[in-house]
Amino acid sequence: ALPLIAIDGPSGVGKSTTARRVASRLGWQYLDTGAMYRAAALAIHRAGLALEAREDLERVLAGLALTQEGTRIFLAGEDVSEAIRSQEVTRRVTPVSADARVREVLVDQQRRIGATGHWVVDGRDIGTVVFPQACCKVFLTASPEARARRRFLELQAKGQGAVFEEVLADQRRRDEADSTRAVAPLRPAEDAVELDSSDLTLDQVVDWIVARHQA
Ligand code: C5P
Repeated sequence: ALPLIAIDGPSGVGKSTTARRVASRLGWQYLDTGAMYRAAALAIHRAGLALEAREDLERVLAGLALTQEGTRIFLAGEDVSEAIRSQEVTRRVTPVSADARVREVLVDQQRRIGATGHWVVDGRDIGTVVFPQACCKVFLTASPEARARRRFLELQAKGQGAVFEEVLADQRRRDEADSTRAVAPLRPAEDAVELDSSDLTLDQVVDWIVARHQA
């Protein structure tokens, strides 16, 4: 088994915050694969490409220069950390992440990064596809209502008007797309441990994963 902790699960379950905290507790590095799909969606959009544009898409993917430094993500040297969180990119990333060619390129990059040391990696297919040999696999879940409530409170705190029912409906669409796509659909690896965080605090989730890893 490799020194990699895979944290998979649906949108809005708190994977990235959890993974970042677990990494800092263990002194490991953290890789945000969702940010890579978002940056790829941004690059494809900026190049003015539709996913149907075969050769052009392959050229953009071949030249995709993604790097991560701490919590920042760079596309060809440009800090796109904020740009990849826009609603526009959030909407565009769903079809982009369902594209087999995109996944092939990003999975390859993720494997090369993961081979360089000790990593906590979060995503949808880390335990099933990217690192089936990870030493520890966690499938993090929470009820749709608990996830939407957290997202709703987050948007409110940012001063962005949000309607709970809309946040919930949007999340349901993304859950559906993530779990029904043909390539790498969201599902727990056979040897993953599932943790329902609906009634747990972030600290409790982090403690549980660290304890599980050290057991
Ligand atoms: O986790 P986050 O919301 O940033 O992920 C953005 C998008 O990338 C999601 O739509 C998700 O389906 C996709 N994704 C993926 N595989 C991963 C990580 C994210 O398909 N390993």
